[in-house]
Amino acid sequence: MDKDRCPHVLFFPVPSQGHVNPMIKLAELLALTGFRITFLNSHHNHERLLKFTNMTAHFARYPGFELRAITDGLPLDHPRSGAWFLKMYEEATEMKIKQSLRDMLVNMSTPVDYMIVDGFLGFALDVARELGIPIVYFRTSSPCSFWAYYFIPDMIQAGELPIKGSEDMDRFITTVPGMETYLRCRDLPSLCRATDKEDAYMKLIVKHTRKSPQADALILNTAEELDGAILSQIRTKCPNVYAIGPINAQLNNRLNAKHGESHDHFSNTLWEEDRSCISWLDKQRNRSVVYVSFGSIMSMKREELIEIWYGLVNSKSKFLFVVRPNSVIGKDGEGEDVVKELFDKTKDQGYIVDWAPQEAVLNHAAVGGFLTHSGWNSTLESIIAGVPMICWPYFSDQQLNSRVVSEVWEIGLDMKDVCNRKMVEEMVNDVMVDRKEKFAKSAAEMAKLINESVNVGGSSYSNLDRLIEDIRGMSSKTRPKTIVL
Ligand code: UDP
Repeated sequence: MDKDRCPHVLFFPVPSQGHVNPMIKLAELLALTGFRITFLNSHHNHERLLKFTNMTAHFARYPGFELRAITDGLPLDHPRSGAWFLKMYEEATEMKIKQSLRDMLVNMSTPVDYMIVDGFLGFALDVARELGIPIVYFRTSSPCSFWAYYFIPDMIQAGELPIKGSEDMDRFITTVPGMETYLRCRDLPSLCRATDKEDAYMKLIVKHTRKSPQADALILNTAEELDGAILSQIRTKCPNVYAIGPINAQLNNRLNAKHGESHDHFSNTLWEEDRSCISWLDKQRNRSVVYVSFGSIMSMKREELIEIWYGLVNSKSKFLFVVRPNSVIGKDGEGEDVVKELFDKTKDQGYIVDWAPQEAVLNHAAVGGFLTHSGWNSTLESIIAGVPMICWPYFSDQQLNSRVVSEVWEIGLDMKDVCNRKMVEEMVNDVMVDRKEKFAKSAAEMAKLINESVNVGGSSYSNLDRLIEDIRGMSSKTRPKTIVL
């Protein structure tokens, strides 16, 4: 590569909000250093981002930042709700995406020097190896879940999996190094609840996780101060780990340093944000509101929504509730009616929106607690904002994240596997009233520590600098292979 040409980095996330979010922020961080970026979205998400965000205008400020779209293998009119993304891993679909990726790379006028790809897109590693392009995996979910996934075969071998019955759920798991003191069966990532050790989804995740050491390095959205113990374990399998998170905070800091406080934030959201909730929050007392949101994927049963709503109402705390369109499952569209009915009944105590500007909400002075599904991005956003959590995990890494929040970091409570109004009321009162100061103090201490890690000289800041230098170094050494079309 011409020594003076800046590296050209290709980003490729799994097409869901929680994966796109940190990836696009890392892309912006590299664009800030002058790298040329190609960011690949699925056609479906590309359209939504164009519709709901100022993405095009925002990235126009970075010369060489290109947004491109690629198939996710499904027809454009597919609803993409529920576990649709598993379709991407069917052999024919995966081949289709792999071929499109290869064609795109081969035909690029400026060759790609370096690929940063979601750790669940194993086929991209094969393409990168074929074309001689260095590749780094980015696992956007929590490091603790990565580590638990890695040991699923060991748990099976030791007879700790599959789970044999509901009475089994509180037993401790002993085969995941570093987690022996807190990991119970019920805290394992949800796919470990499969009763068949040949479960296709479990095998898929294990396959991708065990492939990780083959990539040139691993990027994780965390900080040494937060996940140091697990990071040292992960480094026994993947020696080159860049812990550069929380990426949202890292980006905010570096943008502030470069452009000052007035820089315009890019909100990379796949739904339209309802900012009226900020005006509502402006009218509330400091730390008096529970923010309730369960992320971009989760669907909840009508009965669960009702229990949570009653729990909140009975707690007497004010609340801001995100109910994503089509996320409540009831009979014959009943879910939607429930939302309307609840909204009408709670006008004085609560506010309901379809989709909120979550980071702004969590950083608002009125918010004192977060009832969350414990998605990794939401968890990090809450930590950075110093907001204690009440965790009601749904699936994936969330079962484990909620355990770490409550037992290891002690910045919240875990409501896993229970959803009744009494429990919701008790937990909300515990965090918002009874032990308010204790939780606020531990969350504030954690926020301080993590904010320092993304400041100049902090661990995540230095790790990102190292990644930037390594990309420069690798890109100048590695010339993509001559491609046979
Ligand atoms: N989010 C948002 N507005 C909402 C709810 C969620 O902007 O009303 C964002 C949130 O800030 C986070 C992402 O959506 O960055 C959700 O990611 P997470 O990993 O927490 O959960 P997932 O959606 O993957 O289950």
